[in-house]
Amino acid sequence: MAKQKLQSIRGIHDGLPTQVSKWRYIEDVARDVFASYAFSEVRLPILEPTALFVRSVGEKTDIVSKEMYAFEDQGGDNICLRPEGTAGAVRAYLQAGLTRAGAQRWFYMGPMFRRERPQKGRLRQFQQIGAEFFGASAAIEDAEVLAMAQRFLDTLGIEQTRLEINSLGCTTCRPAYREALLTFLQSKKEALCETCHERMDSNPMRVLDCKVQTCQAALTDAPEMVNHLCEGCETHFSGLQSGLKALNVKYIINPRIVRGLDYYNRTAFEFITDQLGAQGTVLAGGRYDGLVESLGGPATPAIGFAAGMERLEMLLPDRETHQPDVAVVALGDTVGYALQQAAKLRQVGLSVIHCGGGSAKRQFKMADREGARFVVTLGEDEMNEDKLMLKNLGSGEQLKVSFDEAVTRIQAHSV
Ligand code: ATP
Ligand code: MG
Repeated sequence: MAKQKLQSIRGIHDGLPTQVSKWRYIEDVARDVFASYAFSEVRLPILEPTALFVRSVGEKTDIVSKEMYAFEDQGGDNICLRPEGTAGAVRAYLQAGLTRAGAQRWFYMGPMFRRERPQKGRLRQFQQIGAEFFGASAAIEDAEVLAMAQRFLDTLGIEQTRLEINSLGCTTCRPAYREALLTFLQSKKEALCETCHERMDSNPMRVLDCKVQTCQAALTDAPEMVNHLCEGCETHFSGLQSGLKALNVKYIINPRIVRGLDYYNRTAFEFITDQLGAQGTVLAGGRYDGLVESLGGPATPAIGFAAGMERLEMLLPDRETHQPDVAVVALGDTVGYALQQAAKLRQVGLSVIHCGGGSAKRQFKMADREGARFVVTLGEDEMNEDKLMLKNLGSGEQLKVSFDEAVTRIQAHSV
């Protein structure tokens, strides 16, 4: 019987050098931008109790009802691979007893897991960079969080996104709106798809989010939350917009934005691009004032967002993967000496490969294939004179120099 070929799980990809160099760039930008807004990085568990997400994200959401990798472990505990970061952040915030410590500004980056139908920009293991701001109640704080997200995208050099905002209301105004919406949806039921029918029962506001053309057509005159806001939500929503204007962050109001998770209220937003087809949302978030309390803490207003690393990656040009500055070629009986010279070159901060001695032809070929910028050739003459033969592979220029001069020349070319 032929051996079965081992492959990664569908929708779960390897991070190879070209991807990882972009991810690291994205992470570096995130760290810089978020630090400038006084956000601190946290690293939270990938495995969490399944109950955490059932209680926060919501039992009837797509995530909890069908996408979680949840299982019983050997000790009979129900655990799962985290599908998102906010619930775990709130759990950690409560567990660390930080509710009296003043506002907390956190960000995180790491893998999330959802058993979705894999497509371009939709994976089963993907990475999110997220931020959470606990203890933020004012509309102006929403505006600053959105401005931070905008700065993150701008600094990355991703320019082709638009910011869409909406208000999801609160426990005061949403119930009446929900009724009005349901009445409308009942009247259009025949025109709506199967998924919409299910959502009418579980989470009617998500019907507004349906991607099916005919459904969208039927929803043209659907009542909108923004026209049913209570006074508090109305003030908050206009405060957010004044803040965004003051900060010069461009936005459009899209009354159809709803989030797939239950815990959001008031501000909801998405940064969307047209360049990734149906998976166009690169960064999304909102306010979740009730979540801390519903997980057992004191009432604590909060807002957060998460960006999909793989979607950001697709919008960025390729970056250079690591190429060595120097390849060291050892001729004759100089391998030991060449190893020492390679080590010294690394100590001054250069990236160096050793070509292993033996045939000169093979070693030069290797230096070339690895894309080294310089070759340092060490024969017995060089060893005895304590010199290096330095060749610039770009210009072909070659000369015998001291170690220090070699370093100066290599560094001059590598900046
Ligand atoms: P979508 O509407 O695209 O399914 P979502 O509302 O489920 O997104 P969130 O839970 O808000 O997404 O996650 C925030 C961001 O994380 C998304 O905007 C997206 O960029 C990214 N993301 C979410 N799910 C996936 C996935 N399966 N694969 C890759 N990226 C994802
Ligand atoms: Mg989703």
